Amino acid sequence: MTMQPGFSDLVLPDLRLRAGAEFLTADASLADEDPCTGEAFADIPIAGAADVDAIVAVASKAFHDPAWRDLAPLARERLLHRFADAIEADLPRLAALEALDTGKPVAIAEAVDIPAAIAWLRTYAGWPSKLAGRAGTLAATSGRYHVYSRREPVGVVAAITPWNFPIVLSMWKIAPALAAGCTVVLKPAPETPLSALRLAEIAREIGFPEGVLSVVTGDGATGAALVQHPDVAKVAFTGSTATGQSILAASVPDLKRVTLELGGKSPSIICADADLSLAIPQAAMGCFFNSGQVCYAGTRLYVHRSVYDQVLEGIAAVGAAQILGASSDRASQLGPLISARQLEKITGMATRARAAGIEAVGQIQQVPEAGHYFAPTVLRDVPPDAEVAREEIFGPVLTATAFDDMEEAIALANDSAYGLAAHVWTRDLATAHRSAERIEAGTVFVNCIMLADPAFPFGGMKMSGIGRENGSEVLDAYLEPKSVVMAL
Ligand code: NAD
Repeated sequence: MTMQPGFSDLVLPDLRLRAGAEFLTADASLADEDPCTGEAFADIPIAGAADVDAIVAVASKAFHDPAWRDLAPLARERLLHRFADAIEADLPRLAALEALDTGKPVAIAEAVDIPAAIAWLRTYAGWPSKLAGRAGTLAATSGRYHVYSRREPVGVVAAITPWNFPIVLSMWKIAPALAAGCTVVLKPAPETPLSALRLAEIAREIGFPEGVLSVVTGDGATGAALVQHPDVAKVAFTGSTATGQSILAASVPDLKRVTLELGGKSPSIICADADLSLAIPQAAMGCFFNSGQVCYAGTRLYVHRSVYDQVLEGIAAVGAAQILGASSDRASQLGPLISARQLEKITGMATRARAAGIEAVGQIQQVPEAGHYFAPTVLRDVPPDAEVAREEIFGPVLTATAFDDMEEAIALANDSAYGLAAHVWTRDLATAHRSAERIEAGTVFVNCIMLADPAFPFGGMKMSGIGRENGSEVLDAYLEPKSVVMAL
């Protein structure tokens, strides 16, 4: 077990499985590996079905306990703000844990990931006192009735997260679920359990009732046991489309509530009239940021033929200028891919593309020898039916195609099984609004990238998911409306 030298002073959270105050002894464990070195630095317990049972039992007890259930809304708000304060106070350590686990540069975890998690928590911390039902009158029934609706928490929530933005995507689920009065069992990805374990530790330290927020570590089988558990009322999942489909299937026997935030293959359209000084660096980082491991990365680029070569050369130059390096190095701009498995998958896709005659633009930079690095790559003249144009790559690989008119660009953009996000660069307002209307995507960015904000709903059309996270809309996923009809 070796630790990256830059993180030698970092204190890991308690890695043991626990059901409330009781520690569990898992039968198996998995190695937590640093993507920058490929070396394991810790053993993480794999919860089996019996461990999942014990942890869900504590979450279910906490859900029904008056200490949580009957907590006044303003008291719940205060607790959530106290949680946010404690996370803020722990920011450097949480950022280092996140960087160590994911391989992303620590400076980015400090500036982007942990502040985003805090922003989400603070946004939903303000909701408990505003989750009122409503009073009304009956429409088709005569007589005298007092009618009102209540909004009740759905129950125990299983929050299942991937490895690309562990703390952010966990908080997208934890914050609204706790604001609604649910209890949460968080299952982080096997590659990145550290920030989840630290969050649960902080929640205990600041006085959350036992079982309101629990963490269960493990692999896909652990996640499946959680999804199948009869006392889990709702599953909030972010990850691959294939796993999302198996979660939806597993939810059928007891009709669990499910939201799925899945993969993407998001188009970026650069029009002839675009401000290229903005579009080139943004389209580049819209694909390369976080080494391409972003569900809504703009990975299919469509550029007007009149500016095609200029844009491709510009984007390739932005990619070549990125500093690839270790997560503890403050000069690093891009880290490695998460695992040898992902590196192998992406290398295979790039190799098959080259074998099919698809060419890369410019010089591809050398990557560090140790670790799972993959250099930013722009592929040109990619046919719409190529594997790299259809499958989610989840690495810093941009596929580019020229178009001649906007009809063609929109048809190309919509020619995908996915519909998570899309980007358009234009100076023409009518083009902007018309394309926003016609592109099949949950979010359309015009002249900007990567803006997720707790105020706006986020999610996918088509194979990119079901339901929405963020905005006030997400609260409906954690609340059951109940109508009360009283004859007077
Ligand atoms: P995955 O979907 O298998 O894993 C995501 C989470 O689901 C992990 O916590 C995992 O343990 C859990 N899980 C796995 N099988 C489960 C099951 N049957 N029931 C319940 N939970 C289960 O993702 P992956 O294998 O780590 O990555 C594969 C591909 O997924 C990537 O190459 C990428 O294309 C895509 N991906 C997408 C996102 C996204 O944000 N949309 C994030 C990560 C990965």
